[in-house]
Amino acid sequence: MNNYEITIVGAGFSGITAANRFLKQGRKDLLLVDKSKSVGGRLATRRVAGGKADHGAQFFTVRTKEFEEEVEGWLDQGRIKRWFGDEYPRYTAVDGMNSLAKHLAKGIPTSLHTTVTRIVQNTSGFRLYDENGNEWQSEKVLLTMPVPQIIELLKDSEVRVDSSVYNQLKKVVFEPTYVGIYKFNHPTNLPEDGHVDTDLPEGMERMVDHEKKGISKETTVSIYMKSDWSRKYYGEDYVLSLIKEKAASYLDWKDLESEQLKRWRYAQAKNVVQSSFLDLSGEGTLVAAGDAFLRENDEAKRTRLESAYLSGKDAAAYFSW
Ligand SMILES: Cc1cc2nc3c(=O)[nH]c(=O)nc-3n(C[C@H](O)[C@H](O)[C@H](O)COP(=O)(O)OP(=O)(O)OC[C@H]3O[C@@H](n4cnc5c(N)ncnc54)[C@H](O)[C@@H]3O)c2cc1C
Repeated sequence: MNNYEITIVGAGFSGITAANRFLKQGRKDLLLVDKSKSVGGRLATRRVAGGKADHGAQFFTVRTKEFEEEVEGWLDQGRIKRWFGDEYPRYTAVDGMNSLAKHLAKGIPTSLHTTVTRIVQNTSGFRLYDENGNEWQSEKVLLTMPVPQIIELLKDSEVRVDSSVYNQLKKVVFEPTYVGIYKFNHPTNLPEDGHVDTDLPEGMERMVDHEKKGISKETTVSIYMKSDWSRKYYGEDYVLSLIKEKAASYLDWKDLESEQLKRWRYAQAKNVVQSSFLDLSGEGTLVAAGDAFLRENDEAKRTRLESAYLSGKDAAAYFSW
């Protein structure tokens, strides 16, 4: 059976950041696992009939010096660009947001298609089980999934978690988001930078034309619905048509070639934890992190890519051997 110093569950931005910090500390005996077929989590990009579209985070902002230093490195390498905005510039990856995650995860020992279903605490740490019947041993574990998924996993596990810490987790509420993704045969009339988030119909949060954004050779548009709207229509099978109806006057629907719907059950957290990670074990062996864990002095006070980064970074620094 394989044995690791640390297992990081969730290869989103927090998990990737933490894994890279562990590697920097010289800890090579780690495993990053994710249930999906690719790393990145909510940094998501997909192909639609020859086009390409981001359908998770579209951009990110920077409020801390430490994140700024990373961002400057990615700018120098040409991985990201400044997209729009003055006070807090919106940065985006030049080849789709998922490509940034893939780049950052290069060199991290990773196991994809691996859904962790159960964790059992034992004398030498933790035994982890996945849905395919695999198991492995890990001295320490870092959980970076959206909090409701952390709670689900803890319910099926045998680990000692302090009740006051568990109660903090239970207060976190994640909101859903629907994203309609549309491929057109002709360019759109959306603004030059491809981004609209003002004067939109009720329930609609933003529209993005990825050809104008610069990541797609073909015209693909993502339409993001607000969390209230997404909650109201959650699970309905006519959502894609409803979004189209709402956007009727913005796009030329007779040029539509292909359409897809992305349903994020856990898109962004409404209630957050006022700490950049939580030590579930009380012994520094089982820790929870992710974008819903905010530093006490967090300026934005909401989940975002930067909070995922800071949480992963702080959690990695907390572990000691
Ligand atoms: C629609 C949408 C729009 C957004 N817009 C913005 C934006 O404009 N700007 C911004 O800064 N942020 C935005 N965000 C938020 C941003 O994407 C997140 O804050 C960030 O990507 C979260 O990273 P994370 O690592 O904490 O979590 P995630 O990216 O969710 O990573 C968690 C990972 O855990 C995996 N996982 C879950 N359960 C298990 C399990 N049991 N076993 C194994 N793996 C598991 C998942 O597959 C996932 O890959 C947006 C998010 C969404 C969904």
